[in-house]
Amino acid sequence: MPDQVVTRFAPSPTGFLHIGGARTALFNWLFARGRGGKFLLRIEDTDRARSTPEATQAILTGLNWLGLDHDGDVVSQAAGAERHAEIAEQLLDEGKAYKCFSTSEDITAFREKARAEGRSTLFRSPWRDADPATYPDAPFAIRIKAPREGETVIRDQVQGDVRIRNDQLDDMVLLRGDGSPVYMLAVVVDDHDMGVTHVIRGDDHLNNAARQMMIYQAMGWDVPVWAHIPLIHGPDGKKLSKRHGALGVEEYQQMGYPAAGMRNYLARLGWSHGDDEFFTDAQAIEWFSLDGIGKSPARFDFKKLGNLCGQHMAAMDDAALLHELQDFLRSTGQPPLDDAKAALMKQAMPCLKERAKTFPELLEKAVFVTSTRPIEPDEKAQKSLDSVSRGILGELTPQMRNANWTREDLEAVANAFANDKGMKFGQLAAPLRAALAGRSATPSVFDMMLVLGRDETIARLNDAAA
Ligand code: GLU
Repeated sequence: MPDQVVTRFAPSPTGFLHIGGARTALFNWLFARGRGGKFLLRIEDTDRARSTPEATQAILTGLNWLGLDHDGDVVSQAAGAERHAEIAEQLLDEGKAYKCFSTSEDITAFREKARAEGRSTLFRSPWRDADPATYPDAPFAIRIKAPREGETVIRDQVQGDVRIRNDQLDDMVLLRGDGSPVYMLAVVVDDHDMGVTHVIRGDDHLNNAARQMMIYQAMGWDVPVWAHIPLIHGPDGKKLSKRHGALGVEEYQQMGYPAAGMRNYLARLGWSHGDDEFFTDAQAIEWFSLDGIGKSPARFDFKKLGNLCGQHMAAMDDAALLHELQDFLRSTGQPPLDDAKAALMKQAMPCLKERAKTFPELLEKAVFVTSTRPIEPDEKAQKSLDSVSRGILGELTPQMRNANWTREDLEAVANAFANDKGMKFGQLAAPLRAALAGRSATPSVFDMMLVLGRDETIARLNDAAA
């Protein structure tokens, strides 16, 4: 192990933060955080036509929501173009790269001929061993001198040893005719300069690793530890796509999944620690290792996501849950709760957070907190407030008012009242729910009464009885 572990997340800002990208970021973050290491963020914005500032912002917002904090400044890959070109020039000076004057027409012609003759269409530049005296006065690309014999071995921590025959590798371009560095060069130079020790990324980059190795070797740089993780599949085992549901992290935020649950779920997507399903961040940081990453693609399972999120909600500290609820309201364009409602919500949290998987579910249970008098019953609740029920509420309310405002006493009053009337408590509960929350499904009526307090409870009961 190097002195300090350095990992990085290197997204291309061409859309939103993909759920697969978020998982890659999480793995890198967990790996670094568990080893006293650094987790760096580099925006791979060299494709100027496709990179947008909005997409970069979406990545930052998504990482921030997930709580994946990075060390140091955000690095822009495009800003390093000069440095990338400098390395290409250095390799040229050292004879490890060469000037290639072949035009795109030359290359096409080469390929067509090779195809016609049944040979490999891998481009072999005639300039690789040309005498500089024969160089034309024309634009040129700088190509690396790829090894032609032997094989390149990627010692991958997930995939094992991956061998590529060197005669399958071409003399890849490092610097284009217009002087712009290629992406593959930029990645290697940046990873080296940033001191990256472990590259954890999607296995769609495995082929790139072989080509990137050439640059490391030519420069005599330490090759990072590679870990190429299988992509995420949909529940049907096919590559995750839009038709499986949400792909962007912000969509999950908007659906109201708590970030801790999302982190837990994403960590389990392709990584395991024994049979552990539910765990905290501290446990994940302690447990995460590259050998826990599976070789086959994980399948996205919404049910499991919901289940874990529910467990995290229930386990969360009330103040933290309230804080995240307020963030959820803001991020979905809803007004956050004012101080009075927020205080009430915090008090109600213990009876709300059980069995809610998302913030909208929690808010649905919290209607008695968020609504203000007069409570508007929905259609179903309205049915529990017929004249008979209103009469019952009218009789019950004065008895409630005089109760000691504790669960025991409130229960005793309600039960005695029901007994007296020869009713089951259940028959009393429906009009109470309707009166207090305007809903037919609510937390327990006594929980609501205790949160609302005597005055507000009595006022709502009187409103409904009237
Ligand atoms: N920018 C690449 C991507 O978004 C990742 C490159 C890397 O991790 O080396 O897929």
